[in-house]
Amino acid sequence: MPVIKEIKCIRSRHRGTWLIVKVITDQPGLYGIGSASDNWHTETVMKAVERLSISLIGRDVSNIEDNWQLVHNNCYWRNGSILNTALGGIDMALWDIKGKEAGMPVYSLLGGPCRSAVPVYGHAGGKDFETLEESVRQFIDRGYQVVRCQVGPYGGGGFIEPGQARLPDNPWSEKAVFDDEAYLDTIPRMFDHLRSRIGFDVKLTHDVHEHLKPQNAVTLAKSLEPFRLFFVEDILPPEHIQWFRKIREQCTTPQAMGELFINPNEWMPLVTERLIDYVRVRVSKGAGITQCRKIAVLCEWFGIQTAWQEGADNDPVNQLAACHLDMASTSFGIQEENHFTDAELEAFPGHAEIRGGYMYPNENPGLGIDINEEKAAALLDTEAVSQPHRYEPDRRPDGSIVRP
Ligand code: MG
Repeated sequence: MPVIKEIKCIRSRHRGTWLIVKVITDQPGLYGIGSASDNWHTETVMKAVERLSISLIGRDVSNIEDNWQLVHNNCYWRNGSILNTALGGIDMALWDIKGKEAGMPVYSLLGGPCRSAVPVYGHAGGKDFETLEESVRQFIDRGYQVVRCQVGPYGGGGFIEPGQARLPDNPWSEKAVFDDEAYLDTIPRMFDHLRSRIGFDVKLTHDVHEHLKPQNAVTLAKSLEPFRLFFVEDILPPEHIQWFRKIREQCTTPQAMGELFINPNEWMPLVTERLIDYVRVRVSKGAGITQCRKIAVLCEWFGIQTAWQEGADNDPVNQLAACHLDMASTSFGIQEENHFTDAELEAFPGHAEIRGGYMYPNENPGLGIDINEEKAAALLDTEAVSQPHRYEPDRRPDGSIVRP
């Protein structure tokens, strides 16, 4: 049986935030790739992959479950973001190799396709309600049946411009600040605008980005009920997931949660107590296909659906890994879209195709995607790569940080 000979990391995109793990076997030409991208801690994940590879060199590539358990338990302190991401990249690469050996796409190994394509939702946005409405209409014209609606910047709808709020003296008072009550006022008006002009034929979602205090999250979920959303996403931060029970007791607005989840103890109670409707773990952050497949199976038994997270910072390999899970899962609900430049896609031959609101994998063995290392390297801006990423949080009027 082929064994793992080398595990290497390849960085791409202009800031080097895409991290592709390549697991190379001792069989000539047999390798697999996986996604271990982390927009904020790329170098830390690289170091983790390097450290984990010491335990994996020489091991049988076909024993995916055993290799996963070895790495997961080998860490002793487990279920952390960095180690999950490193393990997730390695795990995807092992599934890629298994598919290549079997001559089958990964979704066939997972039980075979139970749908012919994967419905995706688009990201509509605008600086005000009118431009957002135009953006939603463009997605409808392109065939999308589900559209996420955001106004203004990240957390938009809740910002008060400097001069409009009574602020204490602090170094951040030049910037707009986030205010829960402003958000609670704006977002229902936004959906009233969209529903009154576009109607109820299109399915709409909204992402709160975990900005609200928990009691205000309950208020928002109730106030959005008349607009019959497909779901509201990240209405609470992971630290306050017990509040989903309060939301459930008071309204029927469907809840999607989980893009920051890394630990089974976060998603397990929400699924088994049916407190949310869609699980949104990122496949790489959920430690790969092996664990996310188990989440999908768990969801099936409790009537919960999956909506694996994508998001602008993610890469085409993670997107396709999610797509394989979607193709083979009965608990699939919807897939978040992602958008890449032509140059970015050229570096990943075999990438997923999105047409008319649906995503399509190819039928190649494995994940069906490869990396052109020369083109991937050409995307790097060495100056930007050398700059450390600085986190600029949103703040409340008193200067305290808003959780993303
Ligand atoms: Mg989100």
